Amino acid sequence: MSDTVRTRYAPSPTGFMHVGNLRTALYEYLVSKSQGGKFILRIEDTDQERKVEGAVDLIYRTLERAGLKHDEGPDVGGDFGPYVQSERLGMYLPYAEQLVKEGKAYYCFCSKERLQSLKDNDKFGTGYDRHCRDLPKEEVERLLASGAEYVIRQKMPLEGSTTFEDAVFGTITVENSELQDQILIKADGFPTYNFANVIDDHTMNITHVVRGCEYLSSTPKYNLLYEDFGWEIPTYIHLPLIMGKNEDGSVSKLSKRHGATSFEDLTNEGYLPEAIINYIALLGWCPEDNTEVFTLDELTKVFKISGISKSPAVFDYDKLEWFNGEYIKAMTVEQFAEVAKPYFEQVIKKPLDFVKIASILQKRTTKLTDIPEKVAFFEEQPKYDKELFVNKKSKTNLENSPVILKAAIEELEALSEWNFDSIHDCLIAFAEKQGIKNGTAMWPVRIAASGMTVTPGGAVEILDILGREESLKRLNAGLAKL
Ligand code: GLU
Repeated sequence: MSDTVRTRYAPSPTGFMHVGNLRTALYEYLVSKSQGGKFILRIEDTDQERKVEGAVDLIYRTLERAGLKHDEGPDVGGDFGPYVQSERLGMYLPYAEQLVKEGKAYYCFCSKERLQSLKDNDKFGTGYDRHCRDLPKEEVERLLASGAEYVIRQKMPLEGSTTFEDAVFGTITVENSELQDQILIKADGFPTYNFANVIDDHTMNITHVVRGCEYLSSTPKYNLLYEDFGWEIPTYIHLPLIMGKNEDGSVSKLSKRHGATSFEDLTNEGYLPEAIINYIALLGWCPEDNTEVFTLDELTKVFKISGISKSPAVFDYDKLEWFNGEYIKAMTVEQFAEVAKPYFEQVIKKPLDFVKIASILQKRTTKLTDIPEKVAFFEEQPKYDKELFVNKKSKTNLENSPVILKAAIEELEALSEWNFDSIHDCLIAFAEKQGIKNGTAMWPVRIAASGMTVTPGGAVEILDILGREESLKRLNAGLAKL
């Protein structure tokens, strides 16, 4: 086996990148990169019926946005190609025939009808009855020569047990009597998924197989194939289930009713790729200390297989939102303005300064999709009730608010320059002159400027962003209302 760690992400192009698939990709990446290895992308599309238009592009796009750069794959090439199973179809049959020759697999000529009737009468779940397993050699040759349709089945040991090691789940033993003589090559000559997977992992020199624990029950069959061929068995790393929280407090396998479950849907809901990756890294893996925020680069430095847990991980949308907020806070204001721009543009058509708006919004944003409703008032003031001027804490009411507002308008109108500092100094001096607290002076101004009691930024920022003309227009309209 290769000295270099080689992992592969082997998605089936279903047109959807579930959080669980993305976590598998991430852990494959981390297992390899934390050990200086190679990360390979292989497209498993032998099941042509499930093929979805554009699905492979979605895989490329997701990996790229998530920052998981593959070293080998259909688009970037490599020494072990082709990296798409449907382009490798010719490679599998000879391996199956080799097993037949060695008595480890056999031709099965059972008709569809026979198999169906077995299924119909299968009360004990014993599956295929191994009818063709011991056909006489001459009979097999006669049937082959007659052109009879066949599949190739793996000959499972009838006695004993199979034991394998999983890096996460430990030692697992199954009774061989529970294993079906599974099909390796289908009647159309194509390999089954289970067979192609093993041949590909071996011929691509894969050292670590990382996948969801739903594959644990298939692993003994894979293991027996490796043994049949006399190939070195890769390190198996099965990942814990990902659950979602139900309303009644219980958990069940993460699905759409819990919320967005695909990478695309999560980004559409306003989560940053970096935050998603960081959060997903912790869905089943724990660092040695209590650090939570990691860039992908940092993850590759601290990731250890021994930190993977077998207990189910619960996907917590609130926690993801917290991570998102942390990543937003860590941006420069210019970076944040850039990612927030499409959300600003949904509601703001006026030529306002997006960087300034971003600067007052950044600290309070945890989800990009919350941005439009927070900034829409810059474009158009909502209709508001004059009761908003009444505020206990600021000591404003319907009597003093018009007085304050009128005087503030006069001061602001006199300003020769309209910018944050000039507005700020003006309103502070105004409060002092009036002998009132800053808060008492600012409240009516902010209400009149925004029409809202909760705004990103205070009166000064809002007036600065709105500009002189719009600000004075709004303040005067507020005064008229009072
Ligand atoms: N093609 C399989 C899937 O998408 C991959 C299983 C594996 O990693 O072996 O689930």
